[in-house]
Amino acid sequence: MADNVGFIGLGAIGTPMAIHVARAFPTVVWNRTQDKAARFASRYDAEVAETPGALVGACDVIITCLPTSREVREVIEAAGDAWRDGQLVIDASSGDPVGSRSNAEWLAQRGVGFVDAPVSGGTSGAEAGTLTTMLGGDAAWVERAKAFLPYAKRIEHVGPVGAGHALKAINNALLALNIVAVGEGLAALVKLGVPARRAIDVINASSGRSNVTENLIPERVLSRAWPRTFSAALLDKDLGVALSVLEDTGVASQLYPAVKRFYESARKVLDPDADHVEVIKPIEEAAGVELT
Ligand code: NDP
Repeated sequence: MADNVGFIGLGAIGTPMAIHVARAFPTVVWNRTQDKAARFASRYDAEVAETPGALVGACDVIITCLPTSREVREVIEAAGDAWRDGQLVIDASSGDPVGSRSNAEWLAQRGVGFVDAPVSGGTSGAEAGTLTTMLGGDAAWVERAKAFLPYAKRIEHVGPVGAGHALKAINNALLALNIVAVGEGLAALVKLGVPARRAIDVINASSGRSNVTENLIPERVLSRAWPRTFSAALLDKDLGVALSVLEDTGVASQLYPAVKRFYESARKVLDPDADHVEVIKPIEEAAGVELT
């Protein structure tokens, strides 16, 4: 009989990931806002669990996709006595290494395996099933987890529990650093009379090009579309995790704390649910230009 897979957290990226899971396995979903789970289940042939405990009771493998390791802990503790020896939690949240080690220990006391498995590639990558996922955990659990990641095209085991979350946090900090650097640089060029569109074209044929210049700026800023797919709040959270990773390893940094401060102040003037790329708006405002 096929393993039942539970999916917890039907948010912006969790939903398209869960669609792949529901197509591949008998799937049970739970979401804090329950009508989202009901809508998902009726559309994608899944069962709805009323509580995290009911989901854990019905499943062999449980995938979590929640904001941080703290919410993962709340949900796994809420499932209480439902945990059974031999189950596996795949935590696809962008969590933090310390929290994931603690969650892994809590589950290990109940015979349950834990693999941190954050994803990269955005909601479009989740829809296409082309995410990258970076796994942290013991080899045997990681091998088992690999069979349950139908939303990922690239699956990499990068180290022990927490290593996946550490790598993901550094990756996202690099994204954040780049967004700010590109935004400030383009603002200066526009003030000098170089249209942002023209500057981006040339940068994309030069050595400063990146995912930000090739994709995010054209699709979201030059177009003025500003879609909301990944919140500035979540990227700010990832910057905080990256700072802790640097601090815990004793690596001194000038840049990461500066970008963390920038995100904190940008968020104060943006909507609470602003997208991560919308931090360009306060840069435009301060410079008195539009990046078009
Ligand atoms: P969203 O904010 O869209 O969704 C968050 C999900 O977590 C919702 O299902 C929400 O439930 C649930 N949730 C929040 N708090 C709690 C809680 N206390 N107890 C139970 N459930 C809770 O986030 P995303 O889907 O964008 O992101 C999820 C994770 O994936 C994050 O760690 C993020 O950093 C990461 N990520 C996101 C990417 C993206 O492009 N969006 C890209 C790569 C990684 P409810 O519906 O009730 O609000």
